[in-house]
Amino acid sequence: MNIDKFLTFNDVVIIPGKASVEPSMVDLTGKISKSITIKIPIASSPMDTVTGWRLSLTMARLGGIGVIHRNMSREDQASEVRKVKSQPPDIWNEIPKVNTTKSLGEVLSRKEEFFAVVEEDDIKGIVLKIGSDYFLESKKVDYLEKLLSMVGIKPSADKSNRPIVAAAISPYDLERAKMLDKAGADVLVTDVAHIHNENALSGLKKISKEVSAEIVAGNLGTKEGVKDTLSKVENVSGLRVGISSGSICLTGEVTGASVPTLSAVINSRKALEELGLFGKIPIIADGGVKNAGDAAKAIVAGASSVMLGKYLACTEESLGAKVSVGGNIYKQYRGMGSRGAIEKRYSEDRYSKPTKVIEEGVEGLVPYCGSVINAIAEVALGLQASLGYVGATNIEAAWNGRLAIITALGNLEVSAHDIIYKH
Ligand code: 5GP
Repeated sequence: MNIDKFLTFNDVVIIPGKASVEPSMVDLTGKISKSITIKIPIASSPMDTVTGWRLSLTMARLGGIGVIHRNMSREDQASEVRKVKSQPPDIWNEIPKVNTTKSLGEVLSRKEEFFAVVEEDDIKGIVLKIGSDYFLESKKVDYLEKLLSMVGIKPSADKSNRPIVAAAISPYDLERAKMLDKAGADVLVTDVAHIHNENALSGLKKISKEVSAEIVAGNLGTKEGVKDTLSKVENVSGLRVGISSGSICLTGEVTGASVPTLSAVINSRKALEELGLFGKIPIIADGGVKNAGDAAKAIVAGASSVMLGKYLACTEESLGAKVSVGGNIYKQYRGMGSRGAIEKRYSEDRYSKPTKVIEEGVEGLVPYCGSVINAIAEVALGLQASLGYVGATNIEAAWNGRLAIITALGNLEVSAHDIIYKH
């Protein structure tokens, strides 16, 4: 028997290459599907503690995209899509504003981490709240403007200047897909642990013939899976890849089956290269991306964008409930294959049918991390720095970058080590 060798993000490092531009010049434009370009190559996971219309809207305003989860009725999911589509795409709409006519007491009693002080529509300054201290920044050195301009964020908008939005579908639910398509979803993303399955692919083929939105198929992990999917469903315009790397995932443990996200990207790239389609059909790396470094490794391996669950579950805009434990604030985060999420699906969606009995996800808490604006800015700035090390000016150029395998002991050395306090 031939045994394959799979690699995880922790097994590799990026080999630094010769840089021709500074990190701030790196263009992060990525893709979620053949014709949908995003300015920051990040999608939020379709999970019921992560992406609803609120996070999805902010993701689009930040230049990424949100995939609205499907743990609700078809009608409710379609209405979430319409909510995103009906809002203005400009990021300034996200910023809480206080009028200069308000008293100082009223201004300082605001709970937000930051807000803009406005006179009519003109922003006079930004107030930042750090702990119990307040800082008034003048418009010129505005914290947000700096953050946003550093990564050159432009909203992800469609031709009619509406925010773009994706929605999760089941390959077995044609009616849901049709409803979401009609509601204006730009992309429909299949949301099953393993689409390489005769019935699932037949279902997806039917859907793909009836909707105008682009279809992202997943999850996939192997070369054969990618090839079979593309031969069965000709108009697939994106691949969501990674099996069992997610932070809340139990699949590898309870079933023994897994294709870690990094290897899933590499396998998919090989399949696409053999078909002459690499660079034409985007690969979305999904599961286990902990930070900008992992995202950059996925991109060097061949991904056009990454999908984040845990990294965004901690934000104010995610769907998870806030919980206080021992004076610290957390947000609930759970796998879509966890007991609670499965039960919710069957109670909210009367058409869904149990296909598996075993639980393949866990439920837990993640430390609260404030606005998604900060989270995305941090990962985007980190990605620019990583691609700077690769020596790439954009994502396509990063595909020529190189990775090296590092030993488990070496992995300890490349993280912070041998100090007492770490932040
Ligand atoms: P994270 O970013 O938290 O590491 O991973 C998020 C990804 O995990 C999701 O986008 C999805 O692909 C996957 N996922 C979500 N829920 C479950 C689950 O219950 N079981 C498994 N195996 N994967 C899950």
